[in-house]
Amino acid sequence: MSTYFKDYPDKNGFFGPYGGAYVPENLKAEMQKIADAYYRIGKSHDYVQELRQIRKHFQGRPTPVYYCRNLSERLGGRIYLKREDLNHSGAHKLNHCMGEVMLAKYLGKKKVIAETGAGQHGVAMATAAAYFGIPCDIYMGEVDIAKQHPNVLRMKILGANVIPVTHGQRTLKEAVDAAFEAYLKDPEGSIYCIGSVVGPHPFPMMVRDFQKVVGEEAREQFLEMTGELPDAVAACVGGGSNSIGIFCGFLDDCDVKLYGVEPLGRGANPGDHAASVTYGRPGILHGFKSYTLQEEDGSPMPVYSVASGLDYQSVGPEHAWLHDQGRVEYVTADDRETLSAFFELSRNEGIIPAIESAHAVAYAIRYAKEHPRRSILVNLSGRGDKDIDYVVEHFGLQAP
Ligand SMILES: *Cc1c(COP(=O)(O)O)cnc(C)c1O
Repeated sequence: MSTYFKDYPDKNGFFGPYGGAYVPENLKAEMQKIADAYYRIGKSHDYVQELRQIRKHFQGRPTPVYYCRNLSERLGGRIYLKREDLNHSGAHKLNHCMGEVMLAKYLGKKKVIAETGAGQHGVAMATAAAYFGIPCDIYMGEVDIAKQHPNVLRMKILGANVIPVTHGQRTLKEAVDAAFEAYLKDPEGSIYCIGSVVGPHPFPMMVRDFQKVVGEEAREQFLEMTGELPDAVAACVGGGSNSIGIFCGFLDDCDVKLYGVEPLGRGANPGDHAASVTYGRPGILHGFKSYTLQEEDGSPMPVYSVASGLDYQSVGPEHAWLHDQGRVEYVTADDRETLSAFFELSRNEGIIPAIESAHAVAYAIRYAKEHPRRSILVNLSGRGDKDIDYVVEHFGLQAP
């Protein structure tokens, strides 16, 4: 075993030059408190045991690894899926939300605060908050509230308080700003639970540690099924939590190629995509340093993807570092290729993927066609039920 997880991040939350905590002084002290609590509580016997039980009995872990026989025989190559769509609440996000909210419970916090874009993180947070019996405030842009009605209802049914954000573009970035602001008003009584491996230290580290279970399970399951390791592993990259989760299981296996698939949206022009590693440059947003899509003056650039879970101007700092180290290769899939993969997986395997996850499936299809002898393991980060109305309304019942 290498010492990678000991070395990264360092004690100030840096992965090489990326990460850190670029926040006001009072928040910095609060972040340090959360980091200290995480090192103390998160590694304790009681906490670890409780999380293990929750994963098994509440979330339904381990989720299976599945061989896509039909798709593989049609394309050549061998495509496997890690089925995070079967994780309770339908995506990988619950893995870190249960960990974060349990930490809040151990710390005696009276409230958890979160932001949400498409509502996926909001639903996972509302689920975790209901489980632990902690009140939950979720900030969501007005535009997203209108677009993501079923998820808003889910959060409300689960007992969360959904707070509309009415300034600026009224989408994810403003929701993050509003959640931070609310947290700053009561950092003692509340805790801000971020939705991916982003934000100031310790969040990129904590969320990664909670998502690691995906890669650890997948490596063992794949070995048991096939007697070998996959040639490649692919996952979609928004903030980067599901991808870092599965990559962590294979970072030390130098022969396993790792691919992060970014959303190319309508194309490579600024504003038409959200491929932060591929087209961004180092900058600071939401309290951490990473590759960022920004204008000349440093302000965040508008971003777009058919998948609302992927349209973010930055990416987790660990991805920036793994990119610079050459350990992970970042590639892209556009809307068109993604929709085609969405239908192809649905019709050949009987699995409707989340439109986010369909980006990774699109890359796996390309890889399988080019490498008929190799195997690729895809993190199927979520199920597509949430996307069916949107897909049919905009694209009909056939791949574009
Ligand atoms: C939120 C979400 C993503 C993107 O987030 P990451 O942090 O990049 O994993 C991907 N897939 C699904 C299903 C999601 O809900």
